Amino acid sequence: MCKTSTSNYSAGPEDITRVRNLTTNATTGCCTYTYRKSGRFGSTGKIQQLKADGATPNGQNDSPWTGEVVIASDCDKGTVTVSHNVKAVNKTSDTTSYPDTVAVTDADLTTKVAKIPPAIERAWNSRAYKLKITDNKCGERLFEVKFVVRMVDSRPHYTINFVNVAGMGTSNDVAGVTSGRSYILPPDRGKFNLGDSRSASDDGDECLEPHEFGHMIGLKDEYLDIPHDRGGVKYEFPDKTTETVAVNGELMGSMSNKTPQPTRYCVTIAYAAIALLEANGHTVTDCVIL
Ligand SMILES: [Zn+2]
Repeated sequence: MCKTSTSNYSAGPEDITRVRNLTTNATTGCCTYTYRKSGRFGSTGKIQQLKADGATPNGQNDSPWTGEVVIASDCDKGTVTVSHNVKAVNKTSDTTSYPDTVAVTDADLTTKVAKIPPAIERAWNSRAYKLKITDNKCGERLFEVKFVVRMVDSRPHYTINFVNVAGMGTSNDVAGVTSGRSYILPPDRGKFNLGDSRSASDDGDECLEPHEFGHMIGLKDEYLDIPHDRGGVKYEFPDKTTETVAVNGELMGSMSNKTPQPTRYCVTIAYAAIALLEANGHTVTDCVIL
């Protein structure tokens, strides 16, 4: 039973509509505000990847990334909404670039990639991250963090080439380009493999895309990779505390966990929220991830 090939990527989630309406309707007083930025978020330099020795920085910081962040506050509470528009490009027939790829029709690709945004949202909203931010205008305020992902045809934050390679493929080049490896190329591109058994696109175990989404908000891999001389990451939080993590079983530390649980995975969002507030005249004196 085939579904029709008609895709409607233009309809936005009501969450996005709601926060955009808040911008229009915002009033002064009671610390009511909505600030929005859609576009490039730069590296904070507060995340340092470590060499395979697990101790020495290897020169790789958190990556610049693209997306939309809306920070909104009313009299009672705040929200930070992180949204990503993703465009899928069908490269499953491009055997010149990707020798092992097996063709998937555009209609089938549409059906498969439609499963990816809900998988990422399930994973990244399961932890219910919160930011406790203190600033000079509003004092201490708790913000609920929500992640929204949608597939679009135009004006994407990320453009992803989709290939369909069984497993890791037979041509596992060092850079992973011709292999079945999925990756993000900061700040706004990537390659995802439909044929990876961990992909949500084929009702897999949904580990792949939530991990890659971590890179779409600037996070670095925490796993040991001797050829690329990396093995662990050091984080500096907005309150100046630090955490150094070695190879581990969490979402960015392996590909076997499908939900981001550690506090540190929200740190690039914390810095983005702070930057957005400070760009709008607030001075942030504290920010704690809960
Ligand atoms: Zn990775």
